[in-house]
Amino acid sequence: MIGNIEVHKFGGASVKDAAGITTVSNIIAELPVSSLIVVSATGKTTNALEQVVHHYMNQTGEANTLLSEIKKAHVTILHELGLASEEVLADVMDTFVEIDWILEDEVQDDYDYVYDQIVSVGELISSKMLAYQCQKAGLPVVWVDARGLIITDNTYREAKVDWQLTQGNVQREVAVAAGQQQTLITQGFIGSSTENFTTTLGREGSDYSAGILAYCMDAASLTIWKDVPGVLTADPRLFDNVTKLDRLDYREAIEMTYYGAKVIHPKTIKPLQNKNIPLYVKPFGEPQASGTIITSGVVAQYPPVVVIEQNQLLVHIATRDFSFVAEQHLSEIFATMTELNIKVNMMRNTAISFTACIQDYGDKAEQLAQQLAAKYVVHMDRDLELVTIRHFDGNTKRRLSEGKVILFEETIATTIRMAMQDIPTVVRKA
Ligand code: ASP
Ligand code: MG
Repeated sequence: MIGNIEVHKFGGASVKDAAGITTVSNIIAELPVSSLIVVSATGKTTNALEQVVHHYMNQTGEANTLLSEIKKAHVTILHELGLASEEVLADVMDTFVEIDWILEDEVQDDYDYVYDQIVSVGELISSKMLAYQCQKAGLPVVWVDARGLIITDNTYREAKVDWQLTQGNVQREVAVAAGQQQTLITQGFIGSSTENFTTTLGREGSDYSAGILAYCMDAASLTIWKDVPGVLTADPRLFDNVTKLDRLDYREAIEMTYYGAKVIHPKTIKPLQNKNIPLYVKPFGEPQASGTIITSGVVAQYPPVVVIEQNQLLVHIATRDFSFVAEQHLSEIFATMTELNIKVNMMRNTAISFTACIQDYGDKAEQLAQQLAAKYVVHMDRDLELVTIRHFDGNTKRRLSEGKVILFEETIATTIRMAMQDIPTVVRKA
């Protein structure tokens, strides 16, 4: 019977160094045997591997140096853990070899494909290090390759899950492990296409992996272990007076994360809600703390919750010939945005214009403007921040918009969103 197994996910911050990996192993020691553990790459490894991909694809000659630094950082952690036996080092280096091979060759594959083959190694290694540490501590754990569990299409960097194949794999593997009283340790973020190529689910996708696995095995619960006390009313790095929310409804959680709250990946909630699997968000520094519980049917009076997204831009698109922006135009504009993988955070249309607030990322906005230039006049406001306040009150709104110009504001029920810029003020010279 696999229906009462717990899933626990540990992010990159929790396994960023030897002390973190030891803490995680201590937490696992207290969990029921046969739990399923999902782990991200250590610390900022994914960013570092992204740089390797970038330098390899652009043949700058730096890729190998960057990769050696990543290897060195991992070997250092293994030494600090007292795990640097020949066998363990060989296993870890064998995993890195996949990247060595790619780097030796000339670039022949497309960017996103190469990206997934290289970046996925971060999770493969962190999960191995954690499994070795747990085994050293005498825990009955087995390392499983998530690519044998989560099957996807071949949309590299944003792979879509094949739920049926994944469910079959998960139920089979988990049943075996449960029968043998083993705890499984696997990777977040990564999967495999049906042709056996490694895929990834999108940045910060380990939470989503945990949600997928929990869904497929009808887990008893999912716990996401974080470096914060639970789901908070705002980012504690940006605000004082932040408080923890003890209970949240799935709906509230999905809205908050959709608006950009980084505490949980937004795709994580749906599979859990669909099977009514409770989600706990807990601090790994204080395993006994209650954290936040996310379930259905929570009736609560929520305080104002603030989410801030930086690096936003407003793109204003107007028809050149003064024709109305109607369905035909909108579908044209959206088709171009979809093609460029642009995500719209907020939008509005008037008689002859359409305005959207989007993440300012690479040269996507320029590409959009170029592609629409024949029929539309496009202009942009850059360097904006998008502030969302759920359950807003006048006070919170006033405090957050002080000293700013609001270029775009939208209120829906109890949520207000404002795209804002600092008011440029002159300062008298001393
Ligand atoms: N390591 C991946 C990333 O940093 C996945 C994750 O952390 O959830 O994006
Ligand atoms: Mg990460």
